[in-house]
Amino acid sequence: MKNNAFENYLKDTGAILKGHFLLTSGLHSDTYIEKFRVLEYPLLTEKLCKAIAEHFQETKPHLVVGAATGGVIISHVVARLLTCRSIFAERENDRLTFRRGFKINPKERVLIVDDVLTTGSSLYELIDLVVKQEGMIVGIGVFIDRSGGRANFGIPYFPLLKLDIPVYRPEECPLCKQNVPLEVRGRTGKR
Ligand SMILES: [Zn+2]
Repeated sequence: MKNNAFENYLKDTGAILKGHFLLTSGLHSDTYIEKFRVLEYPLLTEKLCKAIAEHFQETKPHLVVGAATGGVIISHVVARLLTCRSIFAERENDRLTFRRGFKINPKERVLIVDDVLTTGSSLYELIDLVVKQEGMIVGIGVFIDRSGGRANFGIPYFPLLKLDIPVYRPEECPLCKQNVPLEVRGRTGKR
């Protein structure tokens, strides 16, 4: 799927929401991307995962790691396409951790995947977790990078779609100044 086809799809399906949002990162934005408008379609999800799997095929990962919730699905599909293991991290007391007996053996080659990257803070947390278990990170693949190219991991990084969407610290947010009601989304939000 071409970049613009993916972007058009996001617009057509209402995945790109406009308003005033508190993001998981704590920042505010006038735009929220609802990744589940993509993930609710297995064939579309598979098509996107295939692009990530093909990009990193040569790095020969032993396992793919994602973070709950979206990363569980993406990691599983990418790992199936690469014929390797898939595990995921989830939040416990607000910190990403491996539960359910998931572990990485020292020097295992790890491909990290995620759905939407905003500031990269969750991904940095996931990288730390993998490094602590002595995994060797061979790459990071994400569906959408909305950071406007500000993310830099020092690791081979492959976003399928790059968007430049402004985010604001609460104290500098123009929407707060206009008293636009704030909507909470992401993991801190009520569903
Ligand atoms: Zn605001």
